[in-house]
Amino acid sequence: MDTAQSCHYSIEFFPPRTEAGEAKLDATHKELAALDPDFFSVTYGAGGSTKKGTRKLVLKYQKAGSQVAPHLSFGGTSDKEVLKLLQKYMDAGVNRIVALRGDVPSGSGSSTTHRYANELVEFIRRETGDHFHIDVACYPEIHPVAKSYESDVQYFKQKVAAGADSAITQYFYNADAYFRFVDYCASAGITIPIVPGIMPITNFENLARFSGNCGAEIPQWLSRRLVDFGDDSEGLKTFGLEIVTELCEKLLQGGAPGLHFYSMNSANNVTQLWNNLGLSDRR
Ligand code: FAD
Repeated sequence: MDTAQSCHYSIEFFPPRTEAGEAKLDATHKELAALDPDFFSVTYGAGGSTKKGTRKLVLKYQKAGSQVAPHLSFGGTSDKEVLKLLQKYMDAGVNRIVALRGDVPSGSGSSTTHRYANELVEFIRRETGDHFHIDVACYPEIHPVAKSYESDVQYFKQKVAAGADSAITQYFYNADAYFRFVDYCASAGITIPIVPGIMPITNFENLARFSGNCGAEIPQWLSRRLVDFGDDSEGLKTFGLEIVTELCEKLLQGGAPGLHFYSMNSANNVTQLWNNLGLSDRR
């Protein structure tokens, strides 16, 4: 494992649904590329629903000179198709991938079969050797449908045994949950870098809905403060920036090996955090 490559400051996009959204994202990418992140990543919609959109953005931004890591899951895709996609990425010089089980597409019902992320990591290693640096997901507050804290960590360990090089966490606002998770993983024998996922705070309703779905906790004191801003969206953003900057500082001071920013396709929030943390001076 290349440790230097495993510690990273990265920025995540999702494929927009419209041409106007993509044009806006192109401008966002351009602005954020000036910050010189280690890589961008592009999500893969539930069940592979944004397959084409993900591939298009990855190839476009890679061609523009950025390092881009596609997110990938088996979804409903055949092994042959996944392999074809991996080959396409290799041909384009992509050397990093975020391997996931993926979210369950809404309305697909409980009968949908899922292939766990460790199977995808194994598949990528078997088919492409050491070409890709593989990131996997992990959950300091534990995956919402995990049987237990312990089982979730053991399944995380399986992904590492299958060949994951580093991990990116679900977002959280409680730094202690991250530090305790990292310690617990270390005592379970997981030693790969665990990079915190950082979600900027810009809108309380969206954040609360999203957090409910993905199992990220908004601490009571924080949600009460955010609710109090009511229609004062600028006040909320200023407060959110202060809180998330403090969280990042605490994480880095405590030894976090980098940060992964969920940009929500907007340049402003990430740029402000990046500047507050002085990340452009890191190299
Ligand atoms: P897994 O590691 O497979 O775990 C899923 C659940 O099953 C956990 O509860 C785990 O405890 C359990 N489990 C794991 N292995 C086994 C096993 N062998 N047997 C039984 N139980 C098992 N979703 C998308 O759809 N597209 C994206 O692009 C995307 N990007 C993400 C990026 C990051 C950094 C993170 C943190 C999440 C992302 N997600 C994305 C969400 C993610 O796909 C969901 O949280 C999904 O439900 C779990 O994916 P996973 O890879 O962690 O799954």
